Amino acid sequence: MTGFLEARPRVGYYYTGRTSGAQIIEKIKKLTVKDFQAIPVVVDRSSSVYDAIVTMFLEDVGTLFVVDQNSILTGVLSRKDLLRASIGNKDLHTLPVDIIMTRMPNITICYKDDTIHSVAKSLIEKQIDAVPVVRESEHGLEVIGRFTKTNFTRAIVDIMNNDMF
Ligand code: ADP
Repeated sequence: MTGFLEARPRVGYYYTGRTSGAQIIEKIKKLTVKDFQAIPVVVDRSSSVYDAIVTMFLEDVGTLFVVDQNSILTGVLSRKDLLRASIGNKDLHTLPVDIIMTRMPNITICYKDDTIHSVAKSLIEKQIDAVPVVRESEHGLEVIGRFTKTNFTRAIVDIMNNDMF
């Protein structure tokens, strides 16, 4: 029990209040997306690649989600998707994002009650930076959040700062 109990003269043994490494790991594994997710930045599927690039700069994000008129997820745009589309002579004002995006059903998603541990594993396995947080609606998957590598890093920093436990 090294570290958990300490002794003081005339007091005896007392509990130090420290949490074991195993307990901390169990707590981290229970953390869920809803407490760390960010606001999603979306563009309409009829937007031009030019408008998507401007949105990415103005909103200061690395991933945009593409939605239809009912806010239903239809695609994902990363920085490199937009860079790739910008190389060459295409007119970015007339090129719709719909042509270049990664589209459903090939999008990795998560739900607000998923653990950040499971979502972080998908980010690594799929080699992507972000996933949309979705909820099921009558039309399809509605985008309600964004969970990124930065959000996971923030969760770990919060834990190290002892904000969580
Ligand atoms: P970048 O391409 O800027 O390095 P990512 O690693 O996030 O950024 O994206 C790599 C590729 O994976 C891109 O083609 C992108 O459209 C796609 N992608 C990004 N996020 C997702 C996701 N949640 N689901 C499926 N594909 C995605």
